[in-house]
Amino acid sequence: MIDAPPRAGRPLPGPDTLLHRREQIVADVVRQGFIDNLHPLCGVLDLDTLDELMLSLKTVYPADLPAVHTIAAKAITLRPVLARFAEAGIGCEVASPGELELALAAGFPADRIVFDSPAKTMPEITRALELGVSFNVDNFEELARVDQAVARIGRTRSVIGVRLNPQTGAGAIDAMSTATSTSKFGIGLADHRDEIIDAFSVRPWLTQLHVHSGSQGMSVEHAAHGVRLTAEVAADVNARAGFQQIQRIDVGGGLPVNFQSDRITPTFADHRAALEAAVPRLFDGTYTLVTEFGRALTAKAGTVVARVEYTKVTGGRPIAITHAGVQVATRSIFAPEAWPLRVEVYDPRGRRREGKPRVQDVAGPACFTGDMLAVGRELPDVRQGDLVAVPDTGGYYFSTHFSYNALPRPAVYTVGTDSDGHRRWSLARRAQTIEQIVTEAGEPSLEPLPFVSPARPSD
Ligand SMILES: *Cc1c(COP(=O)(O)O)cnc(C)c1O
Repeated sequence: MIDAPPRAGRPLPGPDTLLHRREQIVADVVRQGFIDNLHPLCGVLDLDTLDELMLSLKTVYPADLPAVHTIAAKAITLRPVLARFAEAGIGCEVASPGELELALAAGFPADRIVFDSPAKTMPEITRALELGVSFNVDNFEELARVDQAVARIGRTRSVIGVRLNPQTGAGAIDAMSTATSTSKFGIGLADHRDEIIDAFSVRPWLTQLHVHSGSQGMSVEHAAHGVRLTAEVAADVNARAGFQQIQRIDVGGGLPVNFQSDRITPTFADHRAALEAAVPRLFDGTYTLVTEFGRALTAKAGTVVARVEYTKVTGGRPIAITHAGVQVATRSIFAPEAWPLRVEVYDPRGRRREGKPRVQDVAGPACFTGDMLAVGRELPDVRQGDLVAVPDTGGYYFSTHFSYNALPRPAVYTVGTDSDGHRRWSLARRAQTIEQIVTEAGEPSLEPLPFVSPARPSD
């Protein structure tokens, strides 16, 4: 029995620290000349914040509790940053063949990778099995395929699980809720409970249960309720088997991020407390715990910095035209109510403006009216040549580029304090060049392909 007293884990950076780091970042970006006419915006990840988030996650759980914490690759598909997670002993949750190969390239060992796509092809299932990567089966048809693959390849080191949809309902954002009664992921628990238990009883190699109730907009209690239902299934599977068939419970990710201020809330400690209240069994050492956080491990570490190209007044409203828009903040531009972002104004030398606020709009560079980073926002006067900083963009924003208007992927830099206390800057991802955009826009001309013609009636 593992003793699990209430734990806060390693302290997280406070609001003053996060603001101070961002101010230093913008000043450094100016000094280093990262913003110029060819590169009017960039992304920056603060490695100190990233490391503190990572350490906080690891330390809120008892050190002797068997656990595999993974970073959800889709939140941060930057190879050297994923490599940093790998070096820290974190695993990687992947959901596509590209993410799987990226995780391997970043150095995650196969036994710390979890593969969760709902649309795995037969070769992907085979590859996962051969690598010994853990994966979670999404539906009964996939399970039939896995039966074939296991019969062919044998039982490898892969921990194979089933993803449950606990059907506990939606959070605040429908598009981010994966546990409604009709959500597309996993096998519906309310619909198929008996079939799920039957499926485990004839497949002793199924040893994991997975649940991910959704992301942003999902309360920790709501997610914990889904885990509780999952643990009940685990108990039933084990009782039917007469031995502990379920070895691991994968509780997914989905800890929401506060986009309103520099306060980190809720915390991993809050998440853990909710889990412990709902499912004490999870902390007694029976099961290996798997987590799959994305946004909560990354968002607060990221800042987009973009130049203000022009300002103007239209219909009495001051509008600043910047280079940060839909290409880098896709979700916020298309669904601003669900994904509001803060905007800060810095002068051309990188000092934060603190003048009297005025109601202004901040626009992106793309050619559609909705490309607005902020509408009717109270901000210090924005002037031509200023910089805007967009906090909390470390998760999904850099990894989810939208190539509207053929706008290039910006460079992403990292900055962190080394062991001598020096600030060190690195390039995590080069900016996409205009030449690359032209090359990736297709073939130079339309060449005829070998074509299998349908038989003509005369043939
Ligand atoms: C996206 C995703 C995650 C990570 O979600 P966050 O909200 O970024 O923590 C974890 N698990 C699965 C299966 C996912 O699809």
